[in-house]
Amino acid sequence: MFIVLLGAPGSGKGTVGEILTKNLKLAHISTGDLFRENLKNETELGKKAREYMDKGELVPDEITIGMLKDRMKNSDVENGAILDGFPRTKLQAESLDKMLALDGNKVDMALNIDVPFDEIVERIANRRSCRGCNSIYNIVFNPPKQEGICDECGGELYQREDQKPEVVENRLEVYKKSADELIEYYTNAGTLYSIKAGDKAGKNSYQVAEEVEKYLRK
Ligand code: ADP
Ligand code: ZN
Repeated sequence: MFIVLLGAPGSGKGTVGEILTKNLKLAHISTGDLFRENLKNETELGKKAREYMDKGELVPDEITIGMLKDRMKNSDVENGAILDGFPRTKLQAESLDKMLALDGNKVDMALNIDVPFDEIVERIANRRSCRGCNSIYNIVFNPPKQEGICDECGGELYQREDQKPEVVENRLEVYKKSADELIEYYTNAGTLYSIKAGDKAGKNSYQVAEEVEKYLRK
């Protein structure tokens, strides 16, 4: 089974992805994490990606698609995967379909987590990431047991460069531009599943994941 997570930065995509990964026993592929890994290890790919990431811009398709192709060869993808942060352009969506088709697979669900933008801006400002294991916390709604320290691995929590308010706004702009064509793409494919989430909708990431699992069991 292959599930693609659509939804703006800060929509809860990451958390929903983690829950579904565990419960459905699928690989979790986050292109954002893969890029950050490359930055940290100062790979060639990381050097190419940095200038785009620091501005909140999309890394060019050619680089991104190549990186995903490599990751998809990993043996943990055998049973399927949750794709978090890919595709972000129509070209990426098309390449994914082609990649999967080679093994007789397809995207089974494109999950659109629909959270109002004003809620998102606030959420991202409260977000902290672990330097050690990439776990994500919200200092208001999901704080670590000890301030500034990861519950999972004891690593240091920090605010990512691209979680600072100026960059967040740009990322949301970038997201808006790409979201429409992806939603159209998966609507046409008949695989779009949209859930209104967030505080006003009264639905958190756990409830979103639960709804998805229920739907898939049917
Ligand atoms: P977000 O929290 O915005 O979803 P991610 O952690 O998924 O951010 O990604 C961080 C950055 O990595 C993006 O702002 C972008 O520069 C780059 N990136 C991640 N996935 C893609 C992709 N599929 N295509 C192009 N760039 C990407
Ligand atoms: Zn950690």
